[in-house]
Amino acid sequence: MNQHENQSAFSPRVFCIGRNYVGHVSELKSAIPEKPVVFIKPASCLVPPGRAIRFPGHGQDLQHEVEVVIRIGKAGKAMSCEEAFSMIDGVTLGLDLTLRDVQTGLKQKGLPWEMAKAFDQSAPIGEFLPYNGSLDLTGIQFCCMVNGSVRQRGITGDMIFSIDKLIVELSAVWLLRPGDMIYTGTPSGVGPLRAGDRIVIESDQLGYFAWNVIA
Ligand code: ZN
Repeated sequence: MNQHENQSAFSPRVFCIGRNYVGHVSELKSAIPEKPVVFIKPASCLVPPGRAIRFPGHGQDLQHEVEVVIRIGKAGKAMSCEEAFSMIDGVTLGLDLTLRDVQTGLKQKGLPWEMAKAFDQSAPIGEFLPYNGSLDLTGIQFCCMVNGSVRQRGITGDMIFSIDKLIVELSAVWLLRPGDMIYTGTPSGVGPLRAGDRIVIESDQLGYFAWNVIA
């Protein structure tokens, strides 16, 4: 069986891009990457809007990272920039929830990030807006508010690696499949969440999605 025949039994992958906005790279004192920084969360991390998010028990510094998320609509490997946009069938906003204290410890030891980023409920996700090519994916403005205060504002045109470039880079390594999602990185302003907080992510183009954090 070749890889194209083995498409029926799989759960979608949640690809995530780190360090994709200069402002966020600077606030974490990281280096500007030469290639996209990629990690994966299991689909079991996804949380639809309105569901309570329980504060994880294995860290203290839970932080919000608002991100534009795209969904793949068809299978493709080694796609070109010209083909990339035809791979997309939906766009929304999501949160790449991160235990920053755990991540800092792992980074210092050179260890993988799953404990800090791929725990249960670490990927709240909005409802997908169908994508038909008419939405300008470089002009999406979005923000994150906690208890009514704006914490993050971004525009997709500020990405270091644009959405088409991310599809080229990911599809060079993985056969992308319908249902796969890509969290495209967060702008500056990441910050802590506490039990009792209400977090809202919003975009005029994509919608308004909210979650409550509980103890
Ligand atoms: Zn992120």
